[in-house]
Amino acid sequence: MRTKIIAGNWKMNKTPAEAAALAQALVAEIGAVSGVERVVVPPFVALAVVAPELAGSGIGLGAQNLHWADSGAYTGEVSAPMLKGLCQYVVIGHSERRQYFGETDESVNKKTKAALAHGLTPIVCVGETLAQYEAGETGAVVSSQVRAAYAGIEAVDALKTVVAYEPVWAIGTGRAATPEGANAVIAEHIRAVIAGLYGAEAAAALRIQYGGSVTAANAAELLAQPDIDGALVGGASLKAADFGVIVRAAA
Ligand code: PEP
Repeated sequence: MRTKIIAGNWKMNKTPAEAAALAQALVAEIGAVSGVERVVVPPFVALAVVAPELAGSGIGLGAQNLHWADSGAYTGEVSAPMLKGLCQYVVIGHSERRQYFGETDESVNKKTKAALAHGLTPIVCVGETLAQYEAGETGAVVSSQVRAAYAGIEAVDALKTVVAYEPVWAIGTGRAATPEGANAVIAEHIRAVIAGLYGAEAAAALRIQYGGSVTAANAAELLAQPDIDGALVGGASLKAADFGVIVRAAA
């Protein structure tokens, strides 16, 4: 039985003061919900002020990115040792990072390894672009992203990660994948690839989220799918009430 995990990616939104206020509202909204892992992912500069707001609530905290090196001459970057102690989760390979900031399958692999080496929980994002979707390349693209992300990672570590299937055409567009469509990609092109890499038992245990225009209105249907183990939520995670509905739909 896989515990569902709902993570809210705040992207580049909220000043530290606004982030603290949203965290307070979320504690009131979903602090008492049990049976589902809840995570919020604010910008780096808000991590230190959000952490005390979440203390004791059971709501986890995550970062939106990290650098694979522990330290060094990488101006503007943040490393796993810097995050460790501040937060537990880290989103890796979000499509916005792949699209705008040169994230590659190789850097996703290095970052995933760095996160694991420092005891952070990576949320590894994969997903095809609209052009790839329309060309019928979804399966090939997603499975190759999964293979690349997990290259050289042992099963025991892979099981500590979470995968987020996020079709790029669904992110921030209001056009979510259909529940059946998302479930099929997760089952056939992510869980099956994990089974090939690590065996059926590991594949059955690994949690795989769906992300892309998840809302209070469509969450229940998506989360009812057998292979969808939660959601990575962008826009709707900025509204405590909406995020609350999504979290309760998973509980
Ligand atoms: C995301 O940021 O990962 C995301 C899925 O965004 P949205 O829910 O707004 O589509």
